Amino acid sequence: MRRWGFLVALVVLAVGLWWSRAPLGAAFYARVAEQRAGRNALAGRSDGITLIFCGTGTPLPDPDRAESCLLVQAGDNLLLIDGGDGGARKLAGWGVPLGGLDAVMITHLHSDHIEGLGPALLMRWTGSAARTALPLIGPAGTARLAAGYNEMLHADAGYRTAHHGEAITPTGGGQFSGRDVGPGEVWNAGGLVVTAFSVDHAPIAPAFGYRLAYKGRTVVISGDTTANPAVAAAAKGADLLVHEALQPRLVAGITAGLERAGQKRTAQITRDILNYHTSPEQAADIAAQAKVGMLLLTHIAPPLPSRLLHAAFLGDAATRFSGPIRIAHDGLVLHLPVGSKAVDDDSL
Ligand SMILES: [Zn+2]
Ligand SMILES: [Zn+2]
Repeated sequence: MRRWGFLVALVVLAVGLWWSRAPLGAAFYARVAEQRAGRNALAGRSDGITLIFCGTGTPLPDPDRAESCLLVQAGDNLLLIDGGDGGARKLAGWGVPLGGLDAVMITHLHSDHIEGLGPALLMRWTGSAARTALPLIGPAGTARLAAGYNEMLHADAGYRTAHHGEAITPTGGGQFSGRDVGPGEVWNAGGLVVTAFSVDHAPIAPAFGYRLAYKGRTVVISGDTTANPAVAAAAKGADLLVHEALQPRLVAGITAGLERAGQKRTAQITRDILNYHTSPEQAADIAAQAKVGMLLLTHIAPPLPSRLLHAAFLGDAATRFSGPIRIAHDGLVLHLPVGSKAVDDDSL
């Protein structure tokens, strides 16, 4: 009899919860939203270079990776290097405020490095009530890209100022100011010096890598490139080399599957991409030549749906470079504190 009473009570409780699912859901949502709003994942680290990997993928669709996106914080500087699709939205989800974004630098004009710039611009504008255009710096063609974005967002910028008012979304903050630059120093502020160098991503030219130096710590970002001595030269003695990587042996599997499925054009694209990227083994050779402290692979192609595939992706890279080699993932945070050789890691 007692067992029946217990079962009846359980059923009544379940029906009650089901009946109240709307107010319960709203209360739960409000509580979590309040906790998450106003978070600042940029706060609380010691002085140094902080890298937040907001996109470690490529144009090959990958549910785990946004397209190319890297946020750099060094002292008062906050820079975005490349703005591929999905990257800026991931930052917002992790509680990384973009109101203080000083500039965006792009490595080259491939779509997977630029098509997520709109959300970054909007979050910087609404996050800071910016009255000035956001600098967009990169190789020849960047000023035209900025003008194109401004044209595309012209109506939207007007709508938002009209709706929220000049105090919140002022005129002037909803656009880019583009600047074409050549190789050389492209940023020098508050101890952070960013130097662009040319890489080989033909037929995409010009294409840049970037070297970041801040109070004795150095990070080099390859951009998209074939294995190139210019990267080794720029990375000489750097604490960290962030290098793109594509594993041809794994891409070959995709090519074979597309051929079997009769998708010959897409199969050809997967063959074409082999000639303007770098394999993990080649990236390891460059890391060894440059004697860097650590190699981090990003712009990961093809998609790796399981950690079990990391060994197949890396091949024999570990025999070519004796330092640590890691594969970046979206949400990875690396922090290089000033006055130390450490590279601390964290995940958002
Ligand atoms: Zn790319
Ligand atoms: Zn590219």
